[in-house]
Amino acid sequence: MRGVVMHAPGDVRTEDRPDPTIEEPTDAVIRLAATCICGSDLWPYRGVEKVQDSAMGHEYIGVVEEVGAEVRTVKPGDFVVGSFWASDNTCVICRAGFQSRCVNAIPMGAIGTQAQLARIPLADGTLVATPGTPPSDLIPSLMAASDVLGTGWFGATAAQAGPGKTTVVVGDGAVGLMAVLAARELGAERIIAMSRNPQRQELARYFGATDILSQRGDEGVAAVKELTDGVGAHSVVEAVGTQESMLQAIHSTRSGGHMGFVGVTYEVALPGMELFFAEINMLGGPAPVRRFLPDLIQRIWDREIDPGRVFDLTLPLEEAAEGYRAMDERRAVKVLLTP
Ligand SMILES: [Zn+2]
Repeated sequence: MRGVVMHAPGDVRTEDRPDPTIEEPTDAVIRLAATCICGSDLWPYRGVEKVQDSAMGHEYIGVVEEVGAEVRTVKPGDFVVGSFWASDNTCVICRAGFQSRCVNAIPMGAIGTQAQLARIPLADGTLVATPGTPPSDLIPSLMAASDVLGTGWFGATAAQAGPGKTTVVVGDGAVGLMAVLAARELGAERIIAMSRNPQRQELARYFGATDILSQRGDEGVAAVKELTDGVGAHSVVEAVGTQESMLQAIHSTRSGGHMGFVGVTYEVALPGMELFFAEINMLGGPAPVRRFLPDLIQRIWDREIDPGRVFDLTLPLEEAAEGYRAMDERRAVKVLLTP
């Protein structure tokens, strides 16, 4: 099969990789209908995270080709969506809704789903079948459910976005935009998107933002307070993961409010006294997308939501290198790859 390999920072190639096989009786092998490039793939691309000859990709949707002897809930021919952590969906952590921290979790990034085929461990726990074969125009939205939509949804849920509340979203990348959509679906009254990029501002409005603020850092906090009677928002989603954006999110949350943080926090060190006196509820981490998948798939199937709009560039798998360049240079929000 063909698959994407990152040989070193900035060196991405689509090349021949061995076809996956059933290794465990709980495995499935799927043929991908689509895959995509994640903002987190840019960390190794930029040399922030070590990389050498790594198969890339952790987002996937497709058709089951083959299943192991113990797989019960999906069968060859099913169209399936999974998330970036394979999980058993039966352990105590999974049953509490935190499948991304499953005691048996396996990171799909170690398998590399930017490929024509992929082995999916713990298939019964990991994969969710769609009601049927999706029409082609639903492919981007189902693809979004695999990571960015599920992650934005977790952020908005962790921030307890809901009726009568104001939600702030810090970060206008794909996850931030999906958090805007999630806040809208969860019924938030006012949704403030922090963005200074005109195209992303437009997308944020499309997904449900009622206000756009272009300020950052302390100025961003002051602008949020101006819109919230000086006390900050009930719900804040952090979708960047830098020191500045984390502090901006904490300071934008009113005391007693909720902050969900889903940006990968590279080298963030939060001062204890800021946390102490903020007096807010914080929940974050790698999103347990699996918890939300059945609901998200149904909303997409019923055409209640259109998260696929977040993909602004589609390329064949063979041109993955250009997709990485486009995201690195911020020419694209999110790149869909067709195998
Ligand atoms: Zn588990």
